[in-house]
Amino acid sequence: MPLIIGIDVGGTNLRLGVVQYKAQYQEVGLENEPPKLLDEMRFKADFSGLCKLHGADSDQAWRKILSTIAAAVNAVRAKYPSVAAVGIGFPGFIDPYTQKISLSPNLPGLSNADLSEDLRALIALPVITENDALAAAYGEFVAAAQPINNLIYLGLGTGVGGGLILNRQPFQGQHGVAMEVGHIITFPDGRLCGCGNRGCMEQYASASGVSITYLEASGERCSAAEIAARAKNGDQNAIAAYSLAGDSLAQALAHILKVIDVTNVIIGGGMSAGWQYMQQAFQQRLDQDLIPALRGKVDVRISDMDDEAGIIGAAMLASKKL
Ligand SMILES: [Zn+2]
Repeated sequence: MPLIIGIDVGGTNLRLGVVQYKAQYQEVGLENEPPKLLDEMRFKADFSGLCKLHGADSDQAWRKILSTIAAAVNAVRAKYPSVAAVGIGFPGFIDPYTQKISLSPNLPGLSNADLSEDLRALIALPVITENDALAAAYGEFVAAAQPINNLIYLGLGTGVGGGLILNRQPFQGQHGVAMEVGHIITFPDGRLCGCGNRGCMEQYASASGVSITYLEASGERCSAAEIAARAKNGDQNAIAAYSLAGDSLAQALAHILKVIDVTNVIIGGGMSAGWQYMQQAFQQRLDQDLIPALRGKVDVRISDMDDEAGIIGAAMLASKKL
């Protein structure tokens, strides 16, 4: 059975997995056996630090990023020499036609970078790059316990990413920007966002958003994980910060569902660990904002795949293009 390396590129680390799947998987789909993650390895890699360090000399940062990924792939290949390809979930907009990274908000300086081609030249394997949230959405889709046709994935991390599977196919959009849902405005005239607008959902529902909400209320700068721990101990400011995140997320989701009527919604990313403090406000707002035709018809679940969805999804998206 074929093996593909799936890679999830994060801001501070690289996660690689070896994914095994049946060759006829693409044709038969979910009636078939789901792909298996045989092994997972993690490598430290501060790519956002690299981009800041090299500033204007983005070429030098790019060469370091490439050599870091190539070394990680080669370490995995030493153990699994029969690997046939590499699929990468990258935090940026990937042009679906040229495969180039048109922009990566968290890795400034990278524009029109061709990760697939440049990495292929170093490792002599086919490389396919997709957006990281789309890869996670596809990973959730292929691992679903019941066959499903449509799925929305919302990844709550440093920012908020989204991925859409429509009629069993990943949906990138014309420019690879589809499901850029973190920039749906939920609080008009709210916090200024990196996109230039005010009140984007990402400013409230991401890890950094929760930290800002908590800082504004308490005067203390804490990580989202620390704020979740404080919420557990009954800190009202911490609970309120997560509630606001849940409210903002539900507002955005109600808008998304008016455009794409999808039943299955999966919430993942590091911030989903604080879901218990978001859930009540989320559900209340969703019940209120959903149009009546959709009330009671949306199945929102927290991902139980941890890091695996992004890795498996990246590998399986690559398998579709081999
Ligand atoms: Zn924005």
